[in-house]
Amino acid sequence: MSKTKAPVASAAGSTSKDPGDALLMRDVRVSLPSAHGALKVIRGVTFTAGRGEVVALAGESGSGKSTSILAALRLLPPGAEVTGSVVLDGTDVLAMPRRKVRELRARRARLVFQDPWRALHPMKQIGAQLIESARSADPGLSRRAARELAEETLARVGIPEPAARMSSHPHEISGGQAQRVVIAMALVARPAVLFCDEPTTALDVTTQAQILELLRDLNRELGISIVIATHDLDVIADVADRLVVMYAGEVVEEGPTGEVLASPRHPYTWALLRAAPGIGGGDRLQAIEGRPPSPAEDPPGCAFAPRCPSAHDVCRTVRPAPREVAPGRMTACLRAEGYGPIPVEVIR
Ligand code: ADP
Ligand code: MG
Repeated sequence: MSKTKAPVASAAGSTSKDPGDALLMRDVRVSLPSAHGALKVIRGVTFTAGRGEVVALAGESGSGKSTSILAALRLLPPGAEVTGSVVLDGTDVLAMPRRKVRELRARRARLVFQDPWRALHPMKQIGAQLIESARSADPGLSRRAARELAEETLARVGIPEPAARMSSHPHEISGGQAQRVVIAMALVARPAVLFCDEPTTALDVTTQAQILELLRDLNRELGISIVIATHDLDVIADVADRLVVMYAGEVVEEGPTGEVLASPRHPYTWALLRAAPGIGGGDRLQAIEGRPPSPAEDPPGCAFAPRCPSAHDVCRTVRPAPREVAPGRMTACLRAEGYGPIPVEVIR
């Protein structure tokens, strides 16, 4: 709790003191209430984001990316049932009292949404919103120090004439600038982990690239761990250290981004890649046929089997467990090794 100026450069300064990973999700399952009973929306999600790492959650719309992030931050609607374990910045999120979770969300783990306009108050000056965010994270910060931090952070995220922008209202800036302001609002809290849910989906392609570059720079310079959810593989190819591919509420593949994109070990990742114009597609660009199952279906075998070109009979009856297929590479496909006998331990 410093009363003096808190430099942007130490944004994630205290992370070195914290042992362990930035985020650890272990067999997280989420049921959401619906008119037709509880929907199993997340069906055993496990992944880790290391300190200073950028991890992308990728998958079609409806695969459970947002729900996973909301579960990690305890932001799911009332009635949601969550099991498994979430350790965020060294604390057990699911066991914490609500007050502590709110504190964690104000200080250590911030969330940036797809639509910057929803995160900004239309009637309040940008500066006031930044100052409020800084002081909610550190109530000991003086107004003056918070103002300096806000201005410095606006400059850091690439807002021209930050001092003048402090008194602007959100409607006076572009969508790209608004997303920069929202990122600045998160940064003034000096978080250890930044969750970005489709942070560029609402923006044009050029602005998308600039925002992603900004996130990458912030990660490199400040050591902030970043978890980005996106339905668009093109978006994260150059940004994410590791890729976590989700399908129908499960993680189907995980590994270093370059390796996963160069040689996917799950047919769903292949399919996603073929559908990505920038990296995999080109003239092969091909939409994935069919639709993901609805959470109400909860099929017995592999959830991707009905759409999978390499599905075998067994894939429709046996649920594949995630397993390591190469160092640091995980996949949940019975057939990752080809057509040989299926090892017993891969059955979920
Ligand atoms: P993604 O972010 O990957 O697009 P979501 O996490 O938003 O996916 O959604 C995962 C699944 O959960 C989808 O089938 C969606 O329809 C369902 N879902 C999300 N939120 C709710 C909710 N509040 N009530 C019922 N179902 C929901
Ligand atoms: Mg989403």
